[in-house]
Amino acid sequence: MDGVIWVMRYYFSFSLTLMIALMSCGGDEGAPGSNPDNITFITQPSAQVGHTSVFSFQPQATHKNGDALTFKIEAPAWLNYDKSENKVSGTPDWDRLNSSFRVKIMATNGIDTAIQRTDIQVTLGEIVCGTNFGDPADSEYILPFEPRQTYKLQNGNCPTNPNWGHQRTFAYDFGTPMGTNILAMRGGTVIASISHQPDVPDCSVGGGNIVFIQHSDGSVAFYGHFKQNSVMVEVGDRVNQGQLLAQSGNSGCSAGPHVHVQVYRQAGPYDRQYSLPINFSNSDGPLNSQGSLVIGENYTAL
Ligand SMILES: [Zn+2]
Repeated sequence: MDGVIWVMRYYFSFSLTLMIALMSCGGDEGAPGSNPDNITFITQPSAQVGHTSVFSFQPQATHKNGDALTFKIEAPAWLNYDKSENKVSGTPDWDRLNSSFRVKIMATNGIDTAIQRTDIQVTLGEIVCGTNFGDPADSEYILPFEPRQTYKLQNGNCPTNPNWGHQRTFAYDFGTPMGTNILAMRGGTVIASISHQPDVPDCSVGGGNIVFIQHSDGSVAFYGHFKQNSVMVEVGDRVNQGQLLAQSGNSGCSAGPHVHVQVYRQAGPYDRQYSLPINFSNSDGPLNSQGSLVIGENYTAL
């Protein structure tokens, strides 16, 4: 019986502690015997951070008597506290998107201790254009046109020219003439297909005639601007790498016949920040130091 009471007491006191902790979120408190009111925090960590951004924070506080304060930090594993620089920093990365993390900062002069808490929300950040695209030999993707054909890359990843589109996103536009056969870069399942849009530039219909293919890892390839009524696959179809999808056209927001290809991390939302950096295992043509195809260069499918 004593054991049960002890457990109940323990549970009650644990719940009470938790309640107090939650109530004091963002406020100050101190160790027993100390006077936390003597310490004032003069900085507050920002409550939002983009998933690819470096979060960096230097705690600062003052003691009423001017005493020097030292800090102790409790933070999630993706954040590092450098004591010599008194700096908390780190990058949350994809796995932490849409999550919240508590940072607890204790300031003390050895007698008084005050605590500051902040919940850091991880939000969708911009992609890192300077990322490494990896070794093309390891790429899961092949060029979206037939072997021994050569096309110019009209637009690519993160162009510096603001008039070209593809700003802060990973995508390729190959200058494939009207009627060129366009092939699946990677096998998967068709999850969207449109074929009725006319071959007339119209930015109100985005990619015009499109195919979206989901791969086994959940990522989704987007192919756009196909020729009207040329799309040969339907939602639910399984397609193999290299399978004919449609013919190149000029539908949607297009300034001339080409194919737009882009890979997203998952099936929607299709924000540019969800695009993935890809290259191609069968591409003969120059790559930049990151392993990305280069705008204005010609590429041959091997
Ligand atoms: Zn494009």
